[in-house]
Amino acid sequence: MRAARMHDYGKTPVLEDIPIPEIQPDEILVQVKACGMCRSDVQLIDGYFREYADIPTPITMGHEITGVVHKIGRVVPKAAGFQEGDHVVVAPGWGDGTCRHCLVGNTHICPNVRWPGFGPYGGFSEFVPVPARYLVHAAEHLAFEQIAPLTDAGMTPYRGIKKLRDAGALGPDRVLGVFGIGGLGGYAVQYAKLLGSGARVVAFARNSEKLALAKEYGADHVINIRGKSPADIAKELRSATGQADLDAIMDCAGAPEMMQLGFKLLSISGHYADVGLVGDRIDIPLFPRVSREQTLHGSYWGNNTDLTEVMALAARGKIRHTLNVIRFDQINEYLELLRAGDVVGRTVMKF
Ligand SMILES: [Zn+2]
Repeated sequence: MRAARMHDYGKTPVLEDIPIPEIQPDEILVQVKACGMCRSDVQLIDGYFREYADIPTPITMGHEITGVVHKIGRVVPKAAGFQEGDHVVVAPGWGDGTCRHCLVGNTHICPNVRWPGFGPYGGFSEFVPVPARYLVHAAEHLAFEQIAPLTDAGMTPYRGIKKLRDAGALGPDRVLGVFGIGGLGGYAVQYAKLLGSGARVVAFARNSEKLALAKEYGADHVINIRGKSPADIAKELRSATGQADLDAIMDCAGAPEMMQLGFKLLSISGHYADVGLVGDRIDIPLFPRVSREQTLHGSYWGNNTDLTEVMALAARGKIRHTLNVIRFDQINEYLELLRAGDVVGRTVMKF
């Protein structure tokens, strides 16, 4: 089968032919139909994660995976309801199933977690073996290129906004800021409207084309922050919404200067959910965090429940997409475009 594999850190993946993997008795072999491309693929190549997880090579990249059930392992329970040909998406965090995080469903933060696309198996290959419990059914009327990104770009901000909602940060009298309108932010704006409890939604970015997309997806206001001081941005926010601060922030960028801006704009008792990883360190003043009783929510990817909920929204036509569909042999070209940061929407490789 064809596979895009990274053989060395710092080098582009090699597109090559390798054997179709065997499955364990509790696994299902998925024939990949589409796989989204993520900024974290570039970061994996660049070694961003090595300090935290030094994954041995070769690595088959690609973690936004959808496809069809090709072969079912012999101990996969009948009750799981899988049959050959079923359309499925791959939940990303494969936990050990035994720790307390796994036991409450948060397998993606298991200390022994494995991630597809960050090890021997990934979605930039024609087949991938997946433990059956990490597959979720997908409605057959949905296009594969649309559902692939829902396993990361279209799920990660969903979990983040649920955290803001569950913390009581949202309501009709609140303003929610969405920071960064890249692959994740376009979805974040839609979830902000769907789950935002009536909060007004303001999108912040530096690229006017991306902000136009946020507006199209339902943002009540958009603010282009390029070249503006935090005071100017606060003034613009006040004239748009009647208040100069944000009750909640969904940060899809995670860029240091944007986080500094976010914490300057965060209200008393404000909640900040961070899912972005553009930077690696932040320098923010401590006293306002304490005296204004602000909360920072780390939010990472998503679990089976998040993915199942997102797939239910997708099946009902509630999620819109901006996609660049590419071929397998264009993977390296688009990784470079992603590194430059100018891709609008999500890039999806389709077999
Ligand atoms: Zn676990």
